[in-house]
Amino acid sequence: MKFPSGLPIGESWVEAPATAPVVFPYDGSTITEAPVGNTALARQALDHAIAVKDKVGRLPSYVRRNVLQATHSAVRAERDAFVDLLVLETGKPLIDCRVEIDRTLLTLVTAAEEVARLHGETVPLDLLPSGEGLRGFWVRKPIGVVVGITGFNYPLLLAAHKIAPAFAAGCPIIVKPAPQTPLATLWLVHLMRSALLEAGAPESALQLLTGGPDVGATLTTDSRIGAVSFTGSAAVGHQIARDAAPTKVLLELGSNSALVVAEDADLDAAADAIIRGGYYASGQACISVQRVLAVESIRQPLLEKLGARLPTVVVGDPRDPATQVSALIDPRSTARVREWVEDAVHAGATIAYAAEGDILGPIVLTDVPSGQPAWDEEIFGPVIAVRSVPDLESAFSVVNASRYGLHASVFTASLDTAFTAIDQLDVGGVVINEVPGFRSDVMPYGGVKDSGIGREGPRFAIEELTTTRMAIIRPR
Ligand code: NAD
Repeated sequence: MKFPSGLPIGESWVEAPATAPVVFPYDGSTITEAPVGNTALARQALDHAIAVKDKVGRLPSYVRRNVLQATHSAVRAERDAFVDLLVLETGKPLIDCRVEIDRTLLTLVTAAEEVARLHGETVPLDLLPSGEGLRGFWVRKPIGVVVGITGFNYPLLLAAHKIAPAFAAGCPIIVKPAPQTPLATLWLVHLMRSALLEAGAPESALQLLTGGPDVGATLTTDSRIGAVSFTGSAAVGHQIARDAAPTKVLLELGSNSALVVAEDADLDAAADAIIRGGYYASGQACISVQRVLAVESIRQPLLEKLGARLPTVVVGDPRDPATQVSALIDPRSTARVREWVEDAVHAGATIAYAAEGDILGPIVLTDVPSGQPAWDEEIFGPVIAVRSVPDLESAFSVVNASRYGLHASVFTASLDTAFTAIDQLDVGGVVINEVPGFRSDVMPYGGVKDSGIGREGPRFAIEELTTTRMAIIRPR
């Protein structure tokens, strides 16, 4: 891994006013000192982005596609080193970081391909006599400068989902990664800026600022930008939407995803999915299984199947390829998760399983009452809450009662139940007989209610980051 020191602002890397340690969450050791930006640098980056906006918007399609393809090749050549870096800065198990890099690569290549599909269409304007003789068509135009703000849990992938569609659409972008995890994103930005330089395109098309809320807010509230694309918590996302108005804001926020188990479900498949979907990335994923709704008749057998599998979940060093659960991003997060579990127990929940050890391992709670954060809010840790429901109708209404709505899963053998779920669940994605955490980077992805606004996946993000321009012509 090699990239310049400082921050990529304007056409060069500038010295940062400060540095901060990036910490390996597993043992608290410092990996390196990373540059930290400030609001003055954020304003400079905005000026640079505005200055190249038209130039980037007019880059020919082949240049935009080539730059994204070259970035894809450069990242692929460093796949293993990226994985190692992600493990260190996020503390996420190696197996999850491998998934992250492969999905990042798919996102980059898909955005490159989407450049070829960025087109408009003709419109029959003569449907009323007033339009007779008129010719009409619409084209897509870049929305302008995009500010991309990302959370800590999948830093590289989240950044790729901002950067690649923005550039494919012809928008300059400034990214701000989470303060805990700036390194992989800095490296990605370095590789893509090298591709921009090689292509003769302005490097200011892609800039990166590190820092906290003050830097983020300076970027998102600048009235000259075209859009904010944010991935993070609901509280921060809502704050950004309020502060950035009337600028367009796309929000990819959190959830407390549910997995419903019907009476006719394959219980082994459901139990496997609950374990896999609840504990990958140590539970720090926006669509990890948090709530399991089991129809009463199969509650006990399902708990027994979970009980048989839970001791096999490997908790430990994230660098070990066998590890499935490791330390959360920081001790504060671990303390919060423990507190929510204790609160749930005081409110009447039972701990059906809790792994022993220094690292917070898999926990299963039963009968967590509504009103508890472990049920109502996003726990973002390796905790699953199982509740029984009399029937599927009640299960669906519990899912829909949440303020969140990202993905929900249903395990069933019935096509009828599957279609009812697809029809009735108020979420961005309904998953049948798979984990709610299933995501392919080519599909439209996003939530409803407090889980977000707008859709990602390059094709859909490009739609969000472009506007239609209508041409109405009366030929002479
Ligand atoms: P967070 O909301 O604490 O921070 C996200 C980013 O916002 C960080 O870069 C942070 O520095 C920045 N920020 C904070 N205050 C700001 C402000 N006032 N203005 C501008 N920027 C500001 O989130 P996190 O803890 O880093 O990430 C975890 C959250 O992200 C979880 O809620 C998770 O569900 C969510 N997430 C959602 C998706 C999705 O696609 N829906 C994917 C991954 C993570």
